[in-house]
Amino acid sequence: AKAKGKNTFHFYSKELDAAANERLYIENELRIGIKEKQFHLHYQPQVDCRTNRIVGYEALIRWTHPDEGNIPPVKFIPIAEATGLIVEIGAWVLEEACQFANRMLKLGRAANISINLSARQFKDAQLIETLADILKRTQLPAEYLHLELTESMLMGDVKAAINQLHQIKELGVALSIDDFGTGYSSLSYLKRFPVDILKVDRSFVKDIPEDLNDMEITAAIIAMAQKLNLKVVAEGVETKAQMEFLQRNNCYIVQGYYYSAPVAEQDLSLVEDKLAGD
Ligand code: C2E
Ligand code: CA
Ligand code: CA
Ligand code: CA
Repeated sequence: AKAKGKNTFHFYSKELDAAANERLYIENELRIGIKEKQFHLHYQPQVDCRTNRIVGYEALIRWTHPDEGNIPPVKFIPIAEATGLIVEIGAWVLEEACQFANRMLKLGRAANISINLSARQFKDAQLIETLADILKRTQLPAEYLHLELTESMLMGDVKAAINQLHQIKELGVALSIDDFGTGYSSLSYLKRFPVDILKVDRSFVKDIPEDLNDMEITAAIIAMAQKLNLKVVAEGVETKAQMEFLQRNNCYIVQGYYYSAPVAEQDLSLVEDKLAGD
């Protein structure tokens, strides 16, 4: 038993070492990646399912590492967040995505751009200045910029969060609550947060039309959003049945593989053509 205990300990400590080493490796590589511009953005169309028209995009970061290839955001965003590197990376994302939106605007195409904000960025005292700076430099009218926040970022110091939200709104920027329904619920706060859009989390959408509970929850979220005068966007829509369910329940803006995966800017016109042809 003793030997086994020792082995177990050894096993876990090895695992921990491996995890800690990987974190350290990614942290170092992130610093290099920033300097060497290894990041780029993909854009996932948000589509009005009544007209098949693109109405906006979500910007999603991509990292092409010289040795590792593509490292997914779930692997490096939490480390960027923990180390604070997300503030620099996030500012780059904001600038790049606003430039993109301004190009689309000038081409007369849909130009709403949704950008994920991390908790660290949201709490950053410099955020308002950074946003104002980027809007000024890129010349993007603020109304085209939508920032996505999660419920958990707004809990904790609710008063400070509301204050920060108001300051962002004063710039003319729109606010979305991402992954709605997955956080520990802020239903009672929802009315106090000056937000514009709710994004129904993929976890509620993915088992439609098999899971009746998820259908009830999704319909309830949509109805509640409408009562509160919020727009609603469904994410993770992969099938026609899901799209039709959402449309029947008055959710018209949808995002997901059913329409398009996130793609590079130059591939968006292909997606547009495909949607127009359907
Ligand atoms: P998220 O904000 O919830 O983004 C949606 C994720 O779902 C994206 O994964 C997207 O590629 C994926 N997705 C879109 N449609 C579908 C679908 O129909 N089915 C399925 N199964 N998945 C779909 P991605 O790009 O790997 O990003 C993962 C997470 O990383 C994001 O979740 C977001 O939390 C974070 N993230 C991505 N880019 C950024 C960024 O620039 N800044 C920050 N702070 N976080 C980011
Ligand atoms: Ca998002
Ligand atoms: Ca989401
Ligand atoms: Ca998510």
